[in-house]
This record gives sequence, structure tokens and C-alpha cells, in this order.
Amino acid sequence: VENINLCYQCKKCAAGCPVGQFMDYKNYEILRLLQLNQKNTALAANSLWLCTNCRACSERCPNGIDTAKIMDILKQEALQSQSPVAEPGIVLFHRIFLAMIRYFGRSYELGLMGLYKLGTGGFWQELRSGALQKDLLLGAKMFRRFKLPLLPHRSKGIKQIRQLFSQSRENGQ
Ligand code: SF4
Ligand code: SF4
Repeated sequence: VENINLCYQCKKCAAGCPVGQFMDYKNYEILRLLQLNQKNTALAANSLWLCTNCRACSERCPNGIDTAKIMDILKQEALQSQSPVAEPGIVLFHRIFLAMIRYFGRSYELGLMGLYKLGTGGFWQELRSGALQKDLLLGAKMFRRFKLPLLPHRSKGIKQIRQLFSQSRENGQ
């Protein structure tokens, strides 16, 4: 259990955050919101979804506060609450990625990109703006260099990976 009251807003944690400039509330501000009992504002922040869990903040804190862990816990709470999450595209990406790992034991980039673009509606927007055509050209280049397989490959360790998913479900994660 992290004692958020130990945070005295020295901002050392934010200095090493690679995505802090894009967050609506920086990591120390999220802690301040929690100290002020404004959890709902923290749960609605895009910061939770931009956090890459690199743990730079946790390593830098002079009071040993594991901010990365707190961000992770808030993410789970935001998903469980019925309110809309700030970055639904990122949540969709996480879900598709995890589904790929679960079924194939590894990422399947072509499927991931296609499902993500369809799920976010980005497919049609990007078609109109020309971004999709650029992606397709890049995809073709990667395909020619054998870096983008057309079909998914199943990992040899798929059984063990599925066991990990089952254990995690049993543990309520
Ligand atoms: S480094 Fe620690 S004490 Fe300083 S602002 Fe960040 S969480 Fe608070
Ligand atoms: S764990 Fe998240 S909040 Fe902490 S430094 Fe990394 S990206 Fe920033």
C-alpha cells in the first residue's frame, strides 16, 4: 500500500517522465488530486493511459512512493467504473494486443493494426486523409523485407502463456 500523503510535491518524479508533457495532470498532480480526495478527476485523466509504466517516477521519488503502481491501480479502477475513459483508443489497443498474445502467444502486427483502425473508426478518416495509403506503402516495404508476416504465427510456448492468462483471471486481475 502506497502512502500518498508522503508526497510533498517536489516534482522529481515528473522530471524523468517521458510522456509528462502530453498528460493533462502530471504524475505528482495525480497524487495531489488523490490527497485532496478528488479521485474522480484523477480517474478521468488521460495521464493514466499515456503512462507507459516505465517506472522512472517510482525510482526517483525520495519518499519511495511507487507512482507507477498507483497509475496502474487507477487504470484498473477507471476501467471498472462505468464512466468513459479518457483515451478509449489506447484501451482498445491494449485489449486487441492482449487478445493476440492470448491466441497466438505473440503479437500479430497486421491483425493488430487492422482491428485497431476498424475499432477506432480511424480507417475511414485515414483513407480520406491519405494516411492509410502511407501506412500501406510502409507495410508493403516491411513485407518485402520479411518484417511483416501476412498470417499470424503461434508461439511454441502458447500453453504456458494461456496458463498465465488463466492464473491471472483466477487472481482477479
Ligand atoms: S518525487 Fe515523490 S515526493 Fe516528489 S512529487 Fe513525486 S511522488 Fe511526490
Ligand atoms: S511510470 Fe508513467 S508516470 Fe511514471 S515516469 Fe513512467 S510514464 Fe511517467
